[in-house]
Amino acid sequence: MLAHVLGYFMAPLDVFSTAGKHGDKCRVVGCGKKLSSAHRKKYGCICRSCAYTRYSLKHPHAYTLNKLRNNAKRRGIECTLTLEQWIDFCNATGYIDARGRESESLTVDRKKSSLGYTADNIRVLTLGDNIRASNRERMERRRNMTLKIYGT
Ligand SMILES: [Zn+2]
Repeated sequence: MLAHVLGYFMAPLDVFSTAGKHGDKCRVVGCGKKLSSAHRKKYGCICRSCAYTRYSLKHPHAYTLNKLRNNAKRRGIECTLTLEQWIDFCNATGYIDARGRESESLTVDRKKSSLGYTADNIRVLTLGDNIRASNRERMERRRNMTLKIYGT
């Protein structure tokens, strides 16, 4: 029991041997989501969302790079970063531990927004600074557009 409690704090979302007890439910402590037998045959006794979270904790670099690539693709921005380059960047900036949604959290910014996510065009900015910078850029574009329309 004590091992369970200690393990819980030391390794969040780890799978504990609860053989015979979890039945058709997800084995991750605190989840217990019911799984179909087809799912269990294919993925084992862990639900999709716990598997995803566990992956993100086990492989934070691959997980965050994948997220960055998908975001870039959706926005039509080139991303040529390799995993090695990304790991170097994260180690140099502390991005993995400082990313998040607060104003002081770190985000990945492109130095030149006309270029993509490449090893020499990325830097970290706090979320607050990143939002301020993109607001400024948007206002600038709007002002240029308005000037063009009115021809002044
Ligand atoms: Zn689960």
